[in-house]
Amino acid sequence: MHAAAAARVPSAPPPTPPLAYDVLVVGGGPGGSATATALARQGRRVALVEKDRHPRFHIGESLLPMSMPLFEELGVREAVERIGVIKRGADFPSATPGEYTVFRFTRTLHPTCAYAVQVRRQDLDELLFATAREAGVATVQDTEIESVRFDADGVEASGHARDGSPVAFRARYLVDATGRDTLLGRQLGLKRRNRRFQSAALFAHFEGVRRREGEHEGNISIYRVDDGWVWVIPLPDGITSIGLVCGPDTLRQRAGERESFLLRLLAGIPGLAERLDAPRIVGHLQATGNYSYQCTRVVGRRWIMVGDSAAFIDPIFSAGVHVALNAAQKAARLVNTVLDDPALERRLQRDYVREQRRGLERVRWFIERFNAPVMKQLFAHPRNDWRLEEAIVSMLAGDLYRDDGIVWRLRLFKLIYYAHCLADLKGALAGVRQRWKRVREVFAADALSPGAR
Ligand SMILES: Cc1cc2nc3c(=O)[nH]c(=O)nc-3n(C[C@H](O)[C@H](O)[C@H](O)COP(=O)(O)OP(=O)(O)OC[C@H]3O[C@@H](n4cnc5c(N)ncnc54)[C@H](O)[C@@H]3O)c2cc1C
Repeated sequence: MHAAAAARVPSAPPPTPPLAYDVLVVGGGPGGSATATALARQGRRVALVEKDRHPRFHIGESLLPMSMPLFEELGVREAVERIGVIKRGADFPSATPGEYTVFRFTRTLHPTCAYAVQVRRQDLDELLFATAREAGVATVQDTEIESVRFDADGVEASGHARDGSPVAFRARYLVDATGRDTLLGRQLGLKRRNRRFQSAALFAHFEGVRRREGEHEGNISIYRVDDGWVWVIPLPDGITSIGLVCGPDTLRQRAGERESFLLRLLAGIPGLAERLDAPRIVGHLQATGNYSYQCTRVVGRRWIMVGDSAAFIDPIFSAGVHVALNAAQKAARLVNTVLDDPALERRLQRDYVREQRRGLERVRWFIERFNAPVMKQLFAHPRNDWRLEEAIVSMLAGDLYRDDGIVWRLRLFKLIYYAHCLADLKGALAGVRQRWKRVREVFAADALSPGAR
């Protein structure tokens, strides 16, 4: 709740508003703004309510090539390219210390777009929010929705503006795009912690970090560390975003000395240390914890969740914004159809849920094993027999929803992974023990913080 709202004098609830909108979208991040824009362009009366005011900082700066056609559809592709750094690949440490292996986006199974963009999210989110406004959406900022109530005709949402005044909206349909705040997930008790993933992060914007050379200068670089992994994302104006994703214990022990801890950790990572040139933190040093979860239901009568409001897993493959944009496109089509023909709601929602789940499942298996010794080997020496490397690059590029030869190749990759595990049982068991250690750690963290759900 806004601090101002918390301090407000008790005020009378607002009168029940008329059914002024077809759709109320709560949350003005990429998922919410894209859903609202698409619905308004289909002639729907849409309100988009955001608790903050753009531009505002947000994490999630590395985008995926498969999002570029979605930006095109929204009419913002060129504008997104202008505010970002072009990313042509993702690099991971190779087996030789100091060297790295690049997964180039030109090497996908079905070339769609050979590059993505890395952005300051305050710029991207402001652009998408403004696009919604231009499309005719009634955009409201500095206003937090606190609860929703469904009735026979629609939904009523109430909350407070930053100045403490009560607000209420009525619409025929609700889109929950509130990100990790999970408005409906919390209100309906649907949110479940995911204990299998890393669940804390410490990140900041830096100066003094050298980029890769030539066509690789915009690459995202990923480094493994004992307790997790580190991202290095080149942003405009010489800024680099660096973040550590790790178990909750690591950050808890480091509270109070985060800046020096992060700088020390980076200086000890082979391959990254050589890229540091008197690194300085120039902004947004932040920690976040307990963030992996999924909701047990993501749709219902007159409502749908989009993006992080439905689920969030470890961000190692930078898929979050892409998942939110894809969900936005599909949710907007669904809601538009259902407003005309409510009888179709259940069937369309079933398809939506299936597709969203399939997308997350495609990356989930890889994320869970990313630090396992066999996975390190396979990522360090990618081979393209049966075009397996291209299938992996397709997944890294965000090709999460099509089949087109990707699925069987990823299954084959998994078989190869298990065969390597059998050949190196000791290493494989070490990987399993490492994953279980993390699960136990997260259980212990839960026990310490009962409200963690
Ligand atoms: C450490 C970390 C690193 C990440 N790195 C990447 C990355 O490199 N690439 C990537 O693609 N993704 C990354 N992500 C994920 C990415 O941040 C999200 O997946 C993405 O922002 C989801 O978009 P969204 O629109 O669903 O939610 P959000 O972008 O979170 O937007 C939700 C909006 O809703 C507003 N809101 C919330 N509650 C309310 C309310 N009650 N009333 C009104 N407004 C409300 C919020 O203020 C916010 O603006 C990362 C995440 C983390 C935690």
